[in-house]
Amino acid sequence: MIDSLYPDIPEHLAGAVLRIDLDAVATNYRTLCHRLGDVACGAVVKADAYGLGAERVGPVLARAGCQDFFVAHINEGVRLRRALATARIHVLSGLYSGAEDTFCEHNLLPVLGSLGEIALWKNYCSTAPLPCDLHVDTGMLRLGLPTDEFRKIVDNPDLLAGLNLQLVLSHLASADETASQQNPRQLAAFKQARAVIPAGQASFSNSSGIFLGPDYHFDIARPGIALYGVNPTPGKPNPMRATVTLNARIVQLRDGHAGDSVGYSGTHRLDKATRIATVAVGYADGVLRSLSNRSCGHIGEYRVPLIGRVSMDLITFDVSDVPDCLLYPGQWIEMIGPRHTVDDMANDAGTIGYEILTSLGRRYHRVYKESEDV
Ligand SMILES: *Cc1c(COP(=O)(O)O)cnc(C)c1O
Repeated sequence: MIDSLYPDIPEHLAGAVLRIDLDAVATNYRTLCHRLGDVACGAVVKADAYGLGAERVGPVLARAGCQDFFVAHINEGVRLRRALATARIHVLSGLYSGAEDTFCEHNLLPVLGSLGEIALWKNYCSTAPLPCDLHVDTGMLRLGLPTDEFRKIVDNPDLLAGLNLQLVLSHLASADETASQQNPRQLAAFKQARAVIPAGQASFSNSSGIFLGPDYHFDIARPGIALYGVNPTPGKPNPMRATVTLNARIVQLRDGHAGDSVGYSGTHRLDKATRIATVAVGYADGVLRSLSNRSCGHIGEYRVPLIGRVSMDLITFDVSDVPDCLLYPGQWIEMIGPRHTVDDMANDAGTIGYEILTSLGRRYHRVYKESEDV
């Protein structure tokens, strides 16, 4: 899908280059496996593997040993199935009437989340029970069996009879806040659910949940964001490896004078003579407009502040501190990299790394790094 959206042009003609390090994704997977010990590690690859490309990320994780993949929507599952012939693919948003054949045809597991969905699947599978999962809401009030419906199952376990239940799962609302009392409350509720639901395996932890400790691990974890290098332990050093870098080209350089203003609505006014570099990315590429006047890039070791509003296709930097020999049209400015991480950019924008990654533009020239031997 990504590859066909824009024709491939040579890297030296690209306005911006997004490098995606698939080796780092595999390393992150192994890091999480190591932390989990004997517990299995699945992978959440919804939203096109958080913007990195599910068709590229999926096979790399499968080779690293991953057997369980989670997507949000059925179309993501159908697409992933083409890249992964044998893995279990779980569709988190569940089942609705009319979708049964598609689940069956592509060998996808619906994550059932209500008595209505359970009835639909049982009815569809009346001759041969096809595998499925059950999501139990433990306090997020978003997806999964609501408490009153869970009680009905406790009172009448026959409601689940005839289901081929692979996983019982639930999702943590505050896993990234280690001190939140919501974590132990959800844990206690999930233990109750697990005792009642006759599923093969229990799955509870997302990325941050893995770092809450072994009590939270159960049989199989479901990390997403940590695989892609965003810090699952906010406030502590990032145990994961970065997976993306973004470099964008200077298209023009100009000199502004004291009193001039930069960009739409003149939100940045110059208080002295300033060298300005205009760079070929904008909010249409996922450089969020909320980064206006609040972010930075780097040219080599030189930090360059983003000044003025982010436009659709362009942004402007104050490059006054950069030596002239480094300033010319075609020069690269590092937007995401070791000096300014996805987490840093998220901080600048007042958002989370998830939103930065899933917003990454489709116009970027993408270069995937994948070693033969990994
Ligand atoms: C997105 C999602 C995950 C993965 O969460 P991360 O914080 O990215 O690790 C796990 N489980 C469910 C149900 C999800 O929706």
